[in-house]
Amino acid sequence: RDILLSVNDLKTYFPISKGLFRNRDEVIKAVDGVSFQLRKGETLGLVGESGCGKSTTGRSIMRLIEPTSGTIEFEGQNITEMSATRFRPLRKRMQIVFQDPYASLNPRMTVQGALEEALGVRDPQMSAKERRDQVKELLQMVGLNAQYATRFPHEFSGGQRQRIGIARALAVEPSLIVADEPVSALDVSIQAQIVNLLQDLQQRLGLSYLFISHDLGVVRHISDRIAVMYLGRIVEIASKKDLFLRPLHPYTEALMSAVPKANPFRKKERIVLSGDVPSPANVPVGCAFHTRCSYATEICRTVRPVATLASPQHYVACHLYGIEGMKYIENRTN
Ligand code: SF4
Ligand code: MG
Repeated sequence: RDILLSVNDLKTYFPISKGLFRNRDEVIKAVDGVSFQLRKGETLGLVGESGCGKSTTGRSIMRLIEPTSGTIEFEGQNITEMSATRFRPLRKRMQIVFQDPYASLNPRMTVQGALEEALGVRDPQMSAKERRDQVKELLQMVGLNAQYATRFPHEFSGGQRQRIGIARALAVEPSLIVADEPVSALDVSIQAQIVNLLQDLQQRLGLSYLFISHDLGVVRHISDRIAVMYLGRIVEIASKKDLFLRPLHPYTEALMSAVPKANPFRKKERIVLSGDVPSPANVPVGCAFHTRCSYATEICRTVRPVATLASPQHYVACHLYGIEGMKYIENRTN
């Protein structure tokens, strides 16, 4: 009932084209079997290094990129193979906020124009007066002076532009906002303001967020639950509290060691991961993280770990927890 979005085994593959010839067998597995649920009014943080498939996941859910397989249920309906006509009204209920709102704002359009355009998407019959009133209200909602309506995007600071980006998303009355690195381009002091604004709006409007960021420190402030992604897969998912108290996956541990004061009780040294994320065109066999994991053993190089339940609502995909996970499930069913 209170599940807004349910994603099941989502895969988004892209063919690799090599010059004139395309080898049909070769694909980039940008998203490779992602499953999660998002409740109404909840924020799920999606975190991982760049190139891990976070943005592709966000866009695939909204069908801005068509997924290869899997199912997406949104507001109780399976939208995966819905026709464009049937999907349109639902599609409005999902909005995206980008890292750089400037890139998505028409430089020749005033704020008034941009917001009226979005309002027109929500309700083409809206009267001119109503539209003007709504623009004022939207600007107020995101903490901007209504007098800014006549200005152009270049007249605003990065933080203000992000507020306009948020206002434009809200104009369509969404229930879900996919926020893709919404504060990554902003100064740290401004980041906090935008995160606070998003939290405020969530409380007032009952919004759900999929909050994508490479920065666990940012995700921490806003998320109820956090999913850690590595090379197209979710490797750990838990409540924020559980994840910070007891990070299980070695990749989560490494990400967390880079967050200042993330957890004062754990070892303080920063875990520096060797090398970059491998290419998603060439995902390592077995555990995709084994090339960078200091705990890797033979099984990690051959067998892909499946997600196991380590404690209630805390899933991890790592061989270190295979037995513990099973023990836990055993205890529960006894
Ligand atoms: Fe490391 Fe093995 Fe766990 Fe992968 S499965 S994270 S390689 S210990
Ligand atoms: Mg991205």
